[in-house]
Amino acid sequence: METLQSVNPTTDAQIASYTVMPDTEVESRIQAAHQAFQHWRKVPIAERAPFMKRAADILDQKRNELARLISLEMGKLLSESEAEIAKCAWVCRHYAEQAEVFLAPERVQTDAVLSYVAYQPLGVILAVMPWNFPFWQVFRFAAPGLMAGNAGLLKHASNVTGCARAIESVFAEAGFPEGLFSHLAIPGSRVAGVIEHPLVKAVTLTGSEGAGSSVAAHAGKHIKKTVLELGGSDAYLILEDADLDMAAEVCAYSRLLNAGQSCIGAKRFIPVAAVYDDFLERFRAQMAEAILGDPFDRTADLGPLARRDLREQLHKQVQISLQKGAQCILGGTIPASPGAFYPPTILTEVAKGMPAYEEELFGPVASVIRATDENDAIRIANDSAFGLGSAVFTQDLDRGERIAAYHLEAGSSFVNTFVRSDPRLPFGGIKISGYGRELARHGILEFVNVKTVYIA
Ligand code: NAP
Repeated sequence: METLQSVNPTTDAQIASYTVMPDTEVESRIQAAHQAFQHWRKVPIAERAPFMKRAADILDQKRNELARLISLEMGKLLSESEAEIAKCAWVCRHYAEQAEVFLAPERVQTDAVLSYVAYQPLGVILAVMPWNFPFWQVFRFAAPGLMAGNAGLLKHASNVTGCARAIESVFAEAGFPEGLFSHLAIPGSRVAGVIEHPLVKAVTLTGSEGAGSSVAAHAGKHIKKTVLELGGSDAYLILEDADLDMAAEVCAYSRLLNAGQSCIGAKRFIPVAAVYDDFLERFRAQMAEAILGDPFDRTADLGPLARRDLREQLHKQVQISLQKGAQCILGGTIPASPGAFYPPTILTEVAKGMPAYEEELFGPVASVIRATDENDAIRIANDSAFGLGSAVFTQDLDRGERIAAYHLEAGSSFVNTFVRSDPRLPFGGIKISGYGRELARHGILEFVNVKTVYIA
């Protein structure tokens, strides 16, 4: 019997083994989601809101238990898991309060007696999700999706099936119609069959470019809408007038958050020549101070990576970069201890053609690239296939805003701080980081029918 394994990446111990759902079970979950949708679509938005608020309350009440599950299954620090659950409650409340405003019909003056734009749900939406923020990635789709009147089917990453089951329980306990939100315990190889199903109307995927490309190609063949939230290689520019102490601290924090496994983690650091040495010294000190340890130990700054195979992949990218001329000034060796630990690592002399320059490094490895000046730093930042986030450090706020708003090719650009998501602001990428937006009003509009009503 095919199974999905949950393995604790801190100890390598198996936590649980889940039986893969047979096709009959998948079919009945799709049918149940569709049935629930037929009822839910007719519920006024204001009456959907109390369900979403209850989901938020349950997340708050169960924060400790759910956070523990996240840390056990994918190894993030317990404090980060707690913050993740709190943020899920926030996004639920945000859409419970705002959905009616976001989806209010918009009257448009035309030759008609009455013409307006109305927003209607699409039906059953498939969400293919990653393990790195196993609750947050799901809730940032589910909160707007369900408030818009859709049903959700979650195909979660195979290593966090425990989280998938817990999320399903949160929605059930909150009283949403039975089957409106459920998870499918299936491997990636069976996603195509779900996309093809006539009752599945659209797909959202957060994950790697390979998974995104394959899912979008299949959805395209079947003429179904997709939103793709893919990888990133966020560039952080450190200009000569930056507050270097602050920049070094923020850069290290963003690189090490979630043990470096965040799509919007800082990945490429681009100091201009005038401050290169001063920045690097401070940045190295910050990275070197970080304590690698058990995610349940409150003194640790980062835990293990989520799986051993991901660590192998990361280490290979580091080694190839070194063979091609990069220098390792911190970390870079796999510890002998059990678990999937990888130390904070800094690579310098990173150049075009190296994995550390071209690819996403999904772990606590920083690529430092020297720029001659502001223009060169912008050129290097944009010299990437990715376009998710970016940040610029300068004490001249006009300069920072000009670079952020007009010059950096990314879905979001921050000044003097690290890139983060916020339910009130749209989130997403350009280039191979994907398309479509989550969060804010833009997110809830992705999976609705933008309908013109015209009365002559
Ligand atoms: P992944 O390997 O692409 O997996 C993501 C999801 O896609 C999992 O549920 C996986 O299922 C499924 N999947 C994989 N290959 C598939 C295929 N060919 N067809 C259908 N489904 C497939 O990514 P990950 O390792 O979980 O997550 C890390 C990646 O996600 C990083 O690149 C990161 O930057 C990106 N990410 C992006 C954002 C964003 O908002 N832009 C946010 C978080 C993460 P299985 O587990 O069963 O293989």
